[in-house]
Amino acid sequence: MAGLTPMMQQYMKIKEQYKDALLFFRLGDFYELFFDDAVIASRELEIALTGRDCGLKERAPMCGVPYHSVEGYIARLIEKGYKIAICEQMQDPEEAKGLVERQVVRVITPGTVLEDSMLEEKSNNYLVSIFKDGSNFGFSIVDVSTGEFYVSQITGENAEAKLMDELSRVSPREILINQSAELDQHLLGTLKERCSPFITLYHEWAYSYNSAYQKLIQHFSVHSLEGFGCQHMDYGICAAGALMEYLTETQKNALRHITRIKPYYLESYMVLDAATRRNLELTETIRGKDKRGSLLWLLDKTSTAMGGRLIRKWIQQPLIKKEEIEYRLDGVEELCSDRILLDDLCAMLKRVYDLERLMARISYGTANARDLLSLKQSVKNLPDIKKLLEHCKSAILKDAYVNLDTLDDIYNLIEESIAEDPPPTIKEGNIIKDGYDAQLDQYRRAMREGKEWIASLEQKEREKTGIKNLRVGFNKVFGYYIEVTKSYYDMVPEYYIRKQTLANAERYITPELKEMEDAILGAEEKSVQLEYQLFLKIREEIARHVDRIQATAQIISTLDVLCSLARVAIENDYVRPEITTDGIISIKEGRHPVVEKTLPSGMFVPNNTYLDKSDHRLMIITGPNMAGKSTYMRQVALIVLMAQIGSFVPAREAKIGIVDRIFTRIGASDDLSAGQSTFMVEMNEVANILHNATPDSLLILDEIGRGTSTFDGLSIAWAVIEYICTQKSLGCKTLFATHYHELTELEGKLPGVKNYCVSVKEQGDNIIFLRKIVRGGSDKSFGIQVAKLAGLPEPVVERAKAILSQLEESDIANKSSAATSSVTEKKPTGEQLSFFIPKPSEIEEELKSIDVLNITPMEAMNILYRLVEKA
Ligand code: ADP
Repeated sequence: MAGLTPMMQQYMKIKEQYKDALLFFRLGDFYELFFDDAVIASRELEIALTGRDCGLKERAPMCGVPYHSVEGYIARLIEKGYKIAICEQMQDPEEAKGLVERQVVRVITPGTVLEDSMLEEKSNNYLVSIFKDGSNFGFSIVDVSTGEFYVSQITGENAEAKLMDELSRVSPREILINQSAELDQHLLGTLKERCSPFITLYHEWAYSYNSAYQKLIQHFSVHSLEGFGCQHMDYGICAAGALMEYLTETQKNALRHITRIKPYYLESYMVLDAATRRNLELTETIRGKDKRGSLLWLLDKTSTAMGGRLIRKWIQQPLIKKEEIEYRLDGVEELCSDRILLDDLCAMLKRVYDLERLMARISYGTANARDLLSLKQSVKNLPDIKKLLEHCKSAILKDAYVNLDTLDDIYNLIEESIAEDPPPTIKEGNIIKDGYDAQLDQYRRAMREGKEWIASLEQKEREKTGIKNLRVGFNKVFGYYIEVTKSYYDMVPEYYIRKQTLANAERYITPELKEMEDAILGAEEKSVQLEYQLFLKIREEIARHVDRIQATAQIISTLDVLCSLARVAIENDYVRPEITTDGIISIKEGRHPVVEKTLPSGMFVPNNTYLDKSDHRLMIITGPNMAGKSTYMRQVALIVLMAQIGSFVPAREAKIGIVDRIFTRIGASDDLSAGQSTFMVEMNEVANILHNATPDSLLILDEIGRGTSTFDGLSIAWAVIEYICTQKSLGCKTLFATHYHELTELEGKLPGVKNYCVSVKEQGDNIIFLRKIVRGGSDKSFGIQVAKLAGLPEPVVERAKAILSQLEESDIANKSSAATSSVTEKKPTGEQLSFFIPKPSEIEEELKSIDVLNITPMEAMNILYRLVEKA
């Protein structure tokens, strides 16, 4: 340290406090990085690595970026998972005596970015805090870019699995967790594996109940958290308080746009585990992160970014209370039935900018005059939107009408004060309108009059001196001047004071001109200063109304989502589902909402579904590969889910008995990276389902047991169905697709089981998929025909057929000699296997009975002779 230059010492002191961040150190017009930070940044940003004398023998590695384009560079580093500390000059270098004072003004992390360029418009940017206390968890979520702040807690059995499921819903950009969780390598490993966001182990003290509680009541300026309804959430409060502490530490900002904390309970929404969210492709498809092809892609026709974020939330948190679902459905129905209202609303909503994020920047103090104009443009539409809702009948639209604050005062304030075409900077003037502030008007008048006086000076001086080409001009270095060319030098009057000599001309000033110049420049400087002060005041005034603007934003996003659902319903010919609590799901001519969009119109074959709590609880669905089993099962799950978010559904008629959870076990999800075999993953998922399903759940089970040998697989599938049907705690509605035709024997033997198959038509050697679900089991698998369709070489297909017929013959032979006991008794495995294992021959029996290690060579020879004779 001692040998370093004073500035480098200052740098080191600051860097010491921000070891885990890249320090952007402001030096004039650049942000510079030094030492290791410089090496990393130059590599990641592909910018030149240079050096700077730092007082030591070797130059310090250095790289830098210009201040005006810093945002793009920061965005790239954040994207790559770095934290950035921004260190500014806190003084004007000209005023500083000695070293300029510098301070870190903000630490930017993936979960705390505010800049539009680093945010996705239609996704929230969540930062999550987890408090691990034994096997219980506190959970808190914040989106700094919108001001949303939630708290919850996860306790009891399977808390860790539930935590992971909740994280898969939230998809945070960054996670904070208490330091002592470090000991739980398994948890940290899973967090990294599943969510791979930025994970920070944060001070244990910040998670202690007392300091967390204090932090929260201090932030909200309240005496207790009772008013927020989260008083009793001890674990949650620990997580939320630590989160607030972290925000204060990194943002160095009062965060006034975080105006409330909302408690929520996982059980208040339909429970969807991570696998189910993935399998049903709610917000992204299984293949990739792309939204295209997901349910969100289909349903999101929102006009605003806020609506885009809200519809994502609705899809991820389907409701389970009839009144809440119907509240939404009523709104969608009313919009569907009034096309003019719908079109007008959509057109109006398109003109509303992202109020939530604008508001966040306004409270943060990073909004510029253009942001205020965007706010004004948005607010301008509110009275018209309100008027459109005047005669609405559904409660949700009526409530929107009653509660929509049109923010007239905010509109008027901005309209009166902010110029129509302001620059992006707020320190260079031209942002405040004339007539808003008397003092500013006076400065401007002085400037204008001064400039007019100067403009008229040219004419006046020409007349006075008789110099015809005399000119009045301005340059930055010398200010205003009077220019006279060489040939008129002799006519220059005495009171002209020479300022500058050019090749062909001389430039002069006069005391009068100088005085005017001072007045103009003085007024200009003062007016720019004043404009800045006025702007800050206006922004501050608007920030005081953050509550009202956020409430308006909420209503606008709800309207937007309802309009989106109505438009999708009309475009795709959906119907309003009838929501019941009788546990019956009855769908007439249901369709898969996404698959039908990928097919030419009218090509999707609709299917019916009936499931109840007694005789029709479990559908066993057989049919060849490619017949449409998975599509059908997902379709049922999606229709139920859509109904419960308040959307219309792709069917001719649908009665949906509310389900509390949907579980899916579909295909081989690729968790191999976590070191688990496909079969292990499958069994984990099945175990999770059997432990957590309730009689009100909907289960989608596709090809359970496929990952192991036929007998194992069949036995497991069999036992699973038995368990679901006979356990009182389960008995849930289940769709079970399988290859094992043997399972169709369960109908009539187990309560609630019904067989279905997807029909196909055989035409000679080929099959045609009819895609109709019909009662009964199918007894052929058509595997070879499907393989043929897939383009397997002809010889392979022919050979497969030959092998199949051989196998079938031997199977028939074996079956006739096998014991014919029923396969549906309690222990299916033993009897079931007798259908398949060929009866062992006498020779085999004898071979098995030999104790090879305890016979003499002679005895062995004798046995061998005997066997040869028998063969
Ligand atoms: P399975 O699960 O039986 O192997 P899938 O459900 O994967 O079959 O369906 C295979 C393909 O058949 C789908 O990709 C889809 O294009 C088409 N399909 C499925 N169901 C239907 C339907 N009801 N109408 C039209 N095409 C369908």
